[in-house]
Amino acid sequence: MQELTKTAVENFRKKGFVAEFFESGEDALKYVLKEIGSSDVGIGGSMTIQELGWFDALQRRGKAIWHWQGKYDGILSDENNAPCYITSANAISSDGAVVNIDANGNRIAATAFGSKKAFIVCGENKIEKDIPSALFRAKNIAAPQNSKRLNRKTPCAIKADKCYNCNSPERICRITSITTFPIPNLDMRIIFVKGSWGY
Ligand code: SF4
Repeated sequence: MQELTKTAVENFRKKGFVAEFFESGEDALKYVLKEIGSSDVGIGGSMTIQELGWFDALQRRGKAIWHWQGKYDGILSDENNAPCYITSANAISSDGAVVNIDANGNRIAATAFGSKKAFIVCGENKIEKDIPSALFRAKNIAAPQNSKRLNRKTPCAIKADKCYNCNSPERICRITSITTFPIPNLDMRIIFVKGSWGY
């Protein structure tokens, strides 16, 4: 485990979060499957979950709702109304905070006042020293790469190099959350997976 990961796990735990580190995606999946049991689970847009390849296992176990694996009107609401929710973060601050930037606000809603149990699954590449550097990462690394992946007509999507603070109609950065302490009535689990996952 990298030193910054160790610091992050310790600081999340000090604040009352459940924070775990796993040596592999398979080990992390075993933990998550056990914790979810047979509950319905919603999955937020997440390259991390895509790269980890968890969807099939989540679906074999019970109902798994993911708008990256099927489309119908209201699927985002169904994801958010599921008792369990899995997503990643755009950045993690090692002092124990989760940073996300959304276009629709669905991930932010589900990990604040939607699901009952939320799993924030992160590679060590997402961990920054503090909140300002985590915000910088979310804005200048994660968001441009997501814009590029989504083929948005935004200045950042061309080179995915930095945020240009655009005023584009296709801007994906519309709401930012910083979760600094556990939220009452939401069991939030911070799951670190060794290595680099997603962006
Ligand atoms: S504000 Fe605009 S330029 Fe900046 S990351 Fe978001 S979409 Fe890209």
